[in-house]
Amino acid sequence: MYNEFCQMHHYTNGMVYYGAFPTGTGKASECVGCGACETVCPQQLPIQKLLGDVARAFETTTR
Ligand code: SF4
Repeated sequence: MYNEFCQMHHYTNGMVYYGAFPTGTGKASECVGCGACETVCPQQLPIQKLLGDVARAFETTTR
């Protein structure tokens, strides 16, 4: 959803879908920063940083 949002010039359909997920279902802001995913990511993505980007884009009303 975030990839779509970025690649399609802030196209907001993904934001609508994301908003339908209730808190407690794994939203980006719920990352506890353990780093476990980054140790096994085959693409070596900065997952914690990227989840912060998602939370800022989709979970705040002002950007
Ligand atoms: S750092 Fe990765 S594994 Fe740990 S809580 Fe966040 S998303 Fe989940």
